[in-house]
Amino acid sequence: MARRNRRRVALVAHDNKKPDLLEWAEFNRGTLVRHDLVATGTTGLLLQEQVGLDVKRLHSGPMGGDMQLGALIAEGEMDLLVFFWDPLEPQPHDPDVRALLRIAVLWNTPMACNRATADYLISSPLFASADYPVAVTT
Ligand code: PGA
Repeated sequence: MARRNRRRVALVAHDNKKPDLLEWAEFNRGTLVRHDLVATGTTGLLLQEQVGLDVKRLHSGPMGGDMQLGALIAEGEMDLLVFFWDPLEPQPHDPDVRALLRIAVLWNTPMACNRATADYLISSPLFASADYPVAVTT
C-alpha cells in the first residue's frame, strides 16, 4: 500500500515527563517539522510555544485526549505514537492511558514510551520510508 511522505506522529507526555519530551522534540525538531503532528492539549501547547512546532491539539489527556488519540489510531490515522507516560505516579485517567497503550499495540502502531526508544524510532529508515505497510495481526 502506498503511504504518504509525511508521517502522522502522535505525542503525549505526562506532567513529570513533559521536560523530557520537550528536550527530545527540540533535539529532533528538524525531523519533526517535516511531519504531521498531533498531541494532547497541554503537551501540544508546550510543543507549540517552547519548540515552535506546528501541532494539532486534542483535548488534554485527563479530559479525553488519550481516547481521541486511540480513536485516530483505530481509524488508521497515526503512524507513530510517542507516549512518555509516568511510571512513578498514578494518573486520574489511568484507564484511558491503559486503553491507549492497548489500542496502539493492537493496531501494530510503532510506539515509544521513553527517549531512547523515541530516538531509535525517529531515526529508523522505516520511519523515513514512504511505503512501510502497517499490518494488523490479531
Ligand atoms: P496533556 O495530557 O498533554 O493535556 O497534559 C497528557 C496526559 O496526561 O495524558
